[in-house]
Amino acid sequence: MDKKNKRPNIILITADSLRPDFLGCYNPEKKLSKNIDKLASQSLFFENAIVPSYPTFYAFPSIMCGIKPFQYGRYLGVPRNKRVKTIAEVLKANGYSTYAFVADNPLLYGENYNYNRGFDYYFDHKYHEISKKKMVLKYKFQRLFEGYLGEKILKLLSFVNYFFETNHSNAKKINKEIKEFIRKKKKEPYFLWIHYMDTHYPYLSGYKHFNLYKNYIRNFKAKMRYKSNSAYFVKKKKINNKEDLKILTSMYEASIKFLDQEVEDLFNWTKKQKDTYLIFTSDHGEALMEHGNFGHHPTIAYNELIKVPLFIYSPKLKPKKIHNTVSLINLANTISKITNTDYDNFTGFNLIETNNIQIDKHFIANNTTKVISGLSPVYREKIFNNKVEIKEKKMLYSIMKNEYKYIFDEKKEQEELYNIKIDLQETDNLLLKNKETTEDFKEILKKMR
Ligand SMILES: [Zn+2]
Repeated sequence: MDKKNKRPNIILITADSLRPDFLGCYNPEKKLSKNIDKLASQSLFFENAIVPSYPTFYAFPSIMCGIKPFQYGRYLGVPRNKRVKTIAEVLKANGYSTYAFVADNPLLYGENYNYNRGFDYYFDHKYHEISKKKMVLKYKFQRLFEGYLGEKILKLLSFVNYFFETNHSNAKKINKEIKEFIRKKKKEPYFLWIHYMDTHYPYLSGYKHFNLYKNYIRNFKAKMRYKSNSAYFVKKKKINNKEDLKILTSMYEASIKFLDQEVEDLFNWTKKQKDTYLIFTSDHGEALMEHGNFGHHPTIAYNELIKVPLFIYSPKLKPKKIHNTVSLINLANTISKITNTDYDNFTGFNLIETNNIQIDKHFIANNTTKVISGLSPVYREKIFNNKVEIKEKKMLYSIMKNEYKYIFDEKKEQEELYNIKIDLQETDNLLLKNKETTEDFKEILKKMR
């Protein structure tokens, strides 16, 4: 019992769709996140963290269960397989109390997708039957009229739709709920997972913080313009007008500002706890037209989508920057190692030991990204109808090694190679110029397929 009492508390924070290059700790030009930046500077800080897969429903099974993407088929949540255990189950079996506060995201509903496995308390803000039905109706309606309606009418519908969006579970509300819960019910040691949706489209939390233009009327007009266009952009997965892109990017930034303000208290409180580890990350990025796409629909493997923030704070850890590319597939294993639980089936290694680990082909193959290539738009409707096994089998792979990044798209039978140290935008394909490096990547790709 004594040993158990000494085990640390773990707080895992995931902020949906949060890009690292919009945070000051990754990109000093951005000044939106002073609280996140400050804690990051006192943490074990990962400069190059990537997701094993995306979007949300393919990122979280790997994060929570330490399994490779699609290892147990194309099911959208925690696979219904006895060999798969969630980190919450493992911790609970080792005497932990386990709590989750998940902002409303129908794809993380505990019961529907098994994410509640192992949690004593899983609060997913599931006003769900209403929002699920609403979603199904929305997509059916959209698909019915897509072919017939002109752009103007679709934009008008988008404006109307905006007023139906709610933001009932923003970071402010969730943090209040957590504080109350922890004050009354916490039992140590505990594992607490917090998922925020503020930085996820439509960036509703940013609405009040939106301050693109100093002129009040101009600013107000920009907000209205955003309201009438944003749902349309999501559907099209494109933004063609530069002004619209500027407004949308600014709304995304405002949502980061909101989130950052709201986590200040939580961070300060965590720092006062002697025996607590806080892990901060995201489930994927957000494409803002860098390669002609908007949103996080799985069609590309460029860094705006697969790179995520990652840092681990604990008074027991020396602040340090880690340069090696590491995948979130290692999170479950890391938590299990920090908490001294006896479970060896999580893929990967303890992130805290990254500097002592040999970076060989096996390591690199584990720290890669694999997504379904060009998922058809019909998939959303299927998901919300609970037909949750996706049939598409063609994959899109991304591998990073030293300064190079290799992408292979099975569907298009297309390869790309970039020097991501000098070509941050991933625009100069070096495939024909650097055959030796490509061959090297193909060897690693074999281990992934
Ligand atoms: Zn997500």
